[in-house]
Amino acid sequence: MAVSAAAGNGIRVPSPSLDRPAVFLDKDGTLLVDEPYNVDPARMHLVPGAGEALGLLGSLGLPLVIVSNQSGAALGRFAVRDLDAVGERLQALFRCNGAALAGFYCCPHHPQGRVERLAIECLCRKPRPGLLQRAARETGIDLHRSWMIGDILDDVEAGRRAGCRTIMIDCGNETEWTVTRSTQEDRTPHFIVKDLLTAASIVARVEGRTAHSQARL
Ligand SMILES: [Mg+2]
Ligand SMILES: [Zn+2]
Repeated sequence: MAVSAAAGNGIRVPSPSLDRPAVFLDKDGTLLVDEPYNVDPARMHLVPGAGEALGLLGSLGLPLVIVSNQSGAALGRFAVRDLDAVGERLQALFRCNGAALAGFYCCPHHPQGRVERLAIECLCRKPRPGLLQRAARETGIDLHRSWMIGDILDDVEAGRRAGCRTIMIDCGNETEWTVTRSTQEDRTPHFIVKDLLTAASIVARVEGRTAHSQARL
């Protein structure tokens, strides 16, 4: 590839991965005001500052992907197809704040669910990394250059286990702080911030720097 040949000094420049970095976002309590088991689009409201955060993230040109545990499906609170309307509303909320939603990935499972086919120990319920890994496979995302932003340590762990950099919004939603010796590293956020806008600013700062240094190569 032309990139390698351009070095001209015997140093092999690795070809950049064709996969792009992405920003993974948790939904409830991170982006939206937490309404347990809600699938009514009329009751979906952005947390304060989220509109501005989406505008900033949207300006970076990275895919923005929501990864969300939706155990309400397994528990029989709503049908999996009800999540379609949630996805559409999210898309609209992104659009009107100058961003695009690249994917909405949900885990509908719960081991103690009442809906038999969803009552399983799956690989996608956070803190497992399955949702991020599936999104990466399906949309060409480089997980090691990606970000995971969430409001509890299960989000951090899912992000860490997928290989992402993680930002935890410490707004009081994590109440247990359960960390054992074996999970200590996975449950340690790379950054802890007070709100989504600050999280978005960190991503913008780091990605801006990366884009700058790549442009100089
Ligand atoms: Mg959450
Ligand atoms: Zn699942």
